[in-house]
Amino acid sequence: MNKPRVLIVEDNVDNYELVRFLLERAGYQVLSASNGVEGVDAAKREQPDMILMDLSMPEMDGWKATAHLKSDDATRKIPVLALTAHTLPGDRKRAIDAGCDGYISKPINVASFDKLVATLLRQARADLQS
Ligand SMILES: [Mg+2]
Repeated sequence: MNKPRVLIVEDNVDNYELVRFLLERAGYQVLSASNGVEGVDAAKREQPDMILMDLSMPEMDGWKATAHLKSDDATRKIPVLALTAHTLPGDRKRAIDAGCDGYISKPINVASFDKLVATLLRQARADLQS
């Protein structure tokens, strides 16, 4: 089976490197974009299996980028997990309201990261088949 392809949209190099490391270690193929505008373009072009979306980014933030993706038939079914350092419940709610399918808090908990990503991918595949 082909490796699932995961698009990371993240402007911070350290966070990006960590997430990429964790995804590659878990057997995923990684694609990357460093702001919301690039992220939306890459999602349309590459049709990844999942997107990990930072929220605070230049050009276009992750809330707006997610809202764009979820309002476009070409990308609406791609699951989006927000990567958020925003610890206030209001910020998480904003991410879910924008269309994110879940979120991962930063700093990233390495133990739960793999599980969350795998679970969401499995759910997305089951939805596509139903
Ligand atoms: Mg950021």
